[in-house]
Amino acid sequence: MSYYPLTTLPDYFLMDELLTDEHKLIRQSVRDWVESFVMPKIDDAAQNHTDIPNLMKELGKIGALGPYIPEEYGGSGLDQISYGLIMQELERGDSAVRSAASVQSSLVMFPINEFGSEEQKRKFLPQLASGEMIGAFGLTEPNHGSDPGSMETHFEDKGDHYLLNGAKMWITNAPLCDIAVVWGKNEEGKIQGLIVERAFEGFTTPETHNKWSLRASKTGELVFNNVKVPKENLLPNVTGLKGPLSCLNSARYGISWGVIGAAVDCYCTALQYSKERKQFGKPIGGFQLQQKKLAEFLTEITKAQLLCLQLGRLKNDHKATPAQISMAKRNNVKMAIDIARESRQILGGMGIMGEFPMMRHAANLESVITYEGTHDVHLLITGMDITGINAFG
Ligand SMILES: Cc1cc2nc3c(=O)[nH]c(=O)nc-3n(C[C@H](O)[C@H](O)[C@H](O)COP(=O)(O)OP(=O)(O)OC[C@H]3O[C@@H](n4cnc5c(N)ncnc54)[C@H](O)[C@@H]3O)c2cc1C
Repeated sequence: MSYYPLTTLPDYFLMDELLTDEHKLIRQSVRDWVESFVMPKIDDAAQNHTDIPNLMKELGKIGALGPYIPEEYGGSGLDQISYGLIMQELERGDSAVRSAASVQSSLVMFPINEFGSEEQKRKFLPQLASGEMIGAFGLTEPNHGSDPGSMETHFEDKGDHYLLNGAKMWITNAPLCDIAVVWGKNEEGKIQGLIVERAFEGFTTPETHNKWSLRASKTGELVFNNVKVPKENLLPNVTGLKGPLSCLNSARYGISWGVIGAAVDCYCTALQYSKERKQFGKPIGGFQLQQKKLAEFLTEITKAQLLCLQLGRLKNDHKATPAQISMAKRNNVKMAIDIARESRQILGGMGIMGEFPMMRHAANLESVITYEGTHDVHLLITGMDITGINAFG
């Protein structure tokens, strides 16, 4: 159990005035669910490197899976700010919980909704929205992470089916998944997406053990050994790297919001602790060095909140660029990991204990700063956007 309950969100610049009543209601209901369902279980799950039982179905019940997917396919038809607020509250609980919702929403439901056939949407989206079906997203490979365009996974047209071979690595929810949206190259070397189902022969998902980060999330490989994929499982409406990259844009946007939640959890815990813990005859929050930390945390959280809100508005208007999303993901994850590390120090020795969230958030954020484009890769994206010169290769 978290030592301090999740109460309010710091709102130093009265950002709530810019939200609708619906936004605030959604945020509160997810916060209440995190408080009652996630917080009592999360430390045990992370300590024991296991997932939270029934997480996906519970996320489905509160509408956290594909919230912006149209209602006719089982989503809630909400706007992008609602999606962001949901991610923020989930990651206040744990990055593993937000990752589960991010992958299902942005990396599995999003591509099926954007690029799938009508039959695929009707077959998969409602079950993914309810959490009865768990999805995974296969882009990264053992030899190709930041450079997914060089992927080796490939498929051949065998007349009535495709034959898929290759392997994906570091895949969130691989060991649990019922389906995986897998990106591979066709015979012309062009990237396309396939929906691979658990029952297909030759498809295995070995788990990756011994992670020190995102320990309440299952990670694994997707291995394809002559897997026969029916032709109707090809995503028909996208070819090329823009398919997976558009999914990543949606997920990175959610991460930008999500990590604010992790930072807030650390900030609120450190603030309260600093007022209660006394040394040299007074609360440690009365020392200038601790106040500097707390004041800087709140400043950085406030900047990140404002960045996300404007990005959400741009996204609602279909104006957000991939480079803007990169900037927000990079800035906000660094903000959160710095706050997790620094706030742990405010708790002294207690900061390393499981009843406080800092070590767990800090360790989780080591993955978040790497996945969905590393910290350095997002810098290169911004650099390319402002100079017009590609510094990747
Ligand atoms: C817990 C976890 C869950 C994940 N879940 C998923 C998932 O569900 N699906 C999925 O497809 N992937 C997933 N990933 C993979 C993740 O997206 C990759 O780890 C990430 O893209 C980086 O790839 P890499 O690990 O191969 O590192 P590399 O690409 O090998 O990078 C190593 C280092 O080199 C740097 N680097 C690379 N290229 C350049 C360059 N041009 N210039 C300067 N520096 C460079 C990087 O910034 C990094 O610091 C997950 C990863 C983790 C840790």
